[in-house]
Amino acid sequence: MDRVYNFSAGPSMMPLEVLEEAQRDMLNYPGAGCSVMEMSHRTPAFESILNQAQENLRKLMNIPDDYAVLFMQGGATMQFSMVACNLANEGDITNYAITGNFAKKAMEEAIRRTEAIAITSSKDANFTYIPEITDDMITPGAKYLHITGNNTIFGTRYTKTPNHAGTRLVADWSSAILGQDIPVADYDLIYAGAQKNMGPSGMAIVILKKEIIGEIDDQKVPVMLRYKPAFDNNSMYNTPPTFSIYMAGLMFKWAIKMGGVKELEKINTMKANMLYDYIDNSKMFTNPVNPKDRSIMNVTFTLPSEDDTKALLEMAKKRGIINIKGHRLVGGLRASIYNGMPIEGVKKLIELMDDFENGKRD
Ligand SMILES: *Cc1c(COP(=O)(O)O)cnc(C)c1O
Repeated sequence: MDRVYNFSAGPSMMPLEVLEEAQRDMLNYPGAGCSVMEMSHRTPAFESILNQAQENLRKLMNIPDDYAVLFMQGGATMQFSMVACNLANEGDITNYAITGNFAKKAMEEAIRRTEAIAITSSKDANFTYIPEITDDMITPGAKYLHITGNNTIFGTRYTKTPNHAGTRLVADWSSAILGQDIPVADYDLIYAGAQKNMGPSGMAIVILKKEIIGEIDDQKVPVMLRYKPAFDNNSMYNTPPTFSIYMAGLMFKWAIKMGGVKELEKINTMKANMLYDYIDNSKMFTNPVNPKDRSIMNVTFTLPSEDDTKALLEMAKKRGIINIKGHRLVGGLRASIYNGMPIEGVKKLIELMDDFENGKRD
């Protein structure tokens, strides 16, 4: 079987040259005589892999010196808990903007520890838009406002940093990090699962203001859920996900070679616009999202009937296009077009949709 165009929301496609580099060095990492998987994390070789990855991410995202970068385990979901455990004391007020399922899940974790308040929600329109936040919506005394920058399931995104009345701003940018420019200095903490734009799953990257670390180091919170031990040990309090860090490092190197995040954003915007333009001109496909809030990473669309959807999925499979089924919460279809998806893949998808619409069924 040939390699397919994989439109999965995550884990997702990675650039072929990144996979090939990993393959080349799989058995024997240069100068190490062993695979990265077999390497002790307490060796200069691995420390250099980790430090290089961190430096390259700093360069790519223009991360200011007063921010720390942590490689954490447990994916983005563990950050739902860590944010509440490290930025608030028990019983403190926290604020959440509910723009989709991941936002809801993040808040559910905060409820275990804090008085979490949903200050706004776009549930009334099935999360097809990003509600405006004004300063007066922030609860006085709230420790932070949490937003989901890009809503993977519903295909929406914030196009500007929301108002937050001077309270700390925390964002889950899992599905757009490195795929578009994110103004790090606007946020106090950004986290992202790696498996969308940065490599294999299981790891999250956390970028946070150093002043947050240790401010609340609640000893009742398990050690793996506190930022301070992670920071004090350069993300190696215990054995870190060494291979995931290595792969993310390769992705960062690739992103730099591609010209950086702004260049990647240009390509991603072009890919997204190709799809949205097609859908907007189609008589068969529709996109339910408020145009100004459309994600450039996850493009959702629907067909008039379930039978049509099934038929398109069948036809897609025959053409080596997989994972365009929408999330079970929304149904329909979704194309996730992260950094690893080549323009060619998007063209193939549009060709498929066009043939389908014009009755050219395989
Ligand atoms: C994928 C995703 C998550 C969940 O990531 P895990 O690594 O599976 O925990 C959380 N938030 C957003 C926005 C996502 O896209």
